[in-house]
Amino acid sequence: MTEPTPSSFEVHDKAVLAKARAVLDASESPRAWADAVVDAVKRNDEWRGQRCLNLLAPEAPTSPTVRRLLASEIGTRAAEGHIGRINRWFAGTQHIDEVEALCVELLKTAFRCRYADHRLMGSMLGNLTVYHALTQPGDTVMTASQPFGGHSSNRHDGPAGTRGLTIVDVPYNPATLEVDLPAFTQLARQVRPKLVVMGMSMTLFPLPVRQMSDVIAEWGGQFIYDGAHQAGLIAGGQFQDPLSEGAVILTGSAGKTFSGPQSGMIMWNDPQLTEPLTEAIFPVLVATHQVNRVAALAVAAAEMIEYGQRYMAQIVKNSQALGRALDERGISMLGADRGYSQTHQVIANVKPFGGGLEVAHRLAEANIITNKNLIPGDGPEDWDRPSGLRIGTIEITRLGLREADMATIADFIARVLINGESTQTVGQDVIDFRLPLQTFYYNFDNGWPAWVNGE
Ligand SMILES: *Cc1c(COP(=O)(O)O)cnc(C)c1O
Repeated sequence: MTEPTPSSFEVHDKAVLAKARAVLDASESPRAWADAVVDAVKRNDEWRGQRCLNLLAPEAPTSPTVRRLLASEIGTRAAEGHIGRINRWFAGTQHIDEVEALCVELLKTAFRCRYADHRLMGSMLGNLTVYHALTQPGDTVMTASQPFGGHSSNRHDGPAGTRGLTIVDVPYNPATLEVDLPAFTQLARQVRPKLVVMGMSMTLFPLPVRQMSDVIAEWGGQFIYDGAHQAGLIAGGQFQDPLSEGAVILTGSAGKTFSGPQSGMIMWNDPQLTEPLTEAIFPVLVATHQVNRVAALAVAAAEMIEYGQRYMAQIVKNSQALGRALDERGISMLGADRGYSQTHQVIANVKPFGGGLEVAHRLAEANIITNKNLIPGDGPEDWDRPSGLRIGTIEITRLGLREADMATIADFIARVLINGESTQTVGQDVIDFRLPLQTFYYNFDNGWPAWVNGE
């Protein structure tokens, strides 16, 4: 194999692409190439799946049933359009209709709302649905900037920018990490945004949804809550409930705290929104929408209804305990004066240890997976090398861990960052700690962690 050669202009890392090209060049056999893919997946499973402490805030382990459904036959079937015989282009969809209708009804139950849609491939598309349905190019929206936790889907480089919207920053108080309500009120009255979209990837505390909604209601503005991260916490009743506090739409990722298959969800109550939102989803943003994923999402919703309250409450308890334990070991934590967190995340300022990029990679060498994060004080020039580190407790909670275990995890992190121990030594201890923990709880396959009944 000689061509095609990697392009000289790439956004992807050229060295990684070249390595893949070398794998293809090393053999003439497409079967060997396929094997190389399967082998890489297996290596990830053995490392990330079995040996690592995965503390990434935007990912969650699914239950065995959810994972099994992702590989099911129904995922090979085409079913575009809305649910029901007359709405589909294809015949033979009666069981697909059953699955999809169950998913919609389960989402409505899980989120205590009147409408939900199950067809979005990601929360990015949920936000694009909102911008498509409710704005025109040139409209003004207000959203949070990234150093305060905002996400690109509501910024210039994402769906909001693509829609040609004018984006004005929601003012924040860097000391308290809270929306600066007086400044927001003044600025909002001046620019009169059509929408305020609060989508927080760095999320420690609830937002003043009611107060912000009331301000923009003065000119008919609407509040959208992008709950990509918080969807599970919301469904589990462990966080603010945006739809009952003034938000007209809630979007969410299914694969973050909600602990289902990676994809998107959108929920609302106002019947007048149903047509614009539903028709933005199909035929604008999705056609074939992966019915295997819909089935998996439906089961994840049922799990959330049965197990969500306790599962999500434990996630929050664990993040608070982990925040405290890290703080006690000399790692500076955001929100320390407010109890560290009311979500699945805690945020460390790791600038003294070399910054988020460097620290996240050092911890990964010790089999502890986190991510770099912008924090207040970081500017645009710090984008690639921000000061913060985001640490999440979804997976360790689903593995059955609770507050007392957080000290062990904080010790691993402190041994690398504070004591400067070799990542190899700490990494071996991490593997020894993790290997016995291979069961995901809070689902119909494995039930509750054993300690729940022993309490
Ligand atoms: C993760 C995230 C998204 C994107 O969600 P996907 O499901 O990955 O498409 C959107 N908004 C916010 C605030 C996020 O954190």
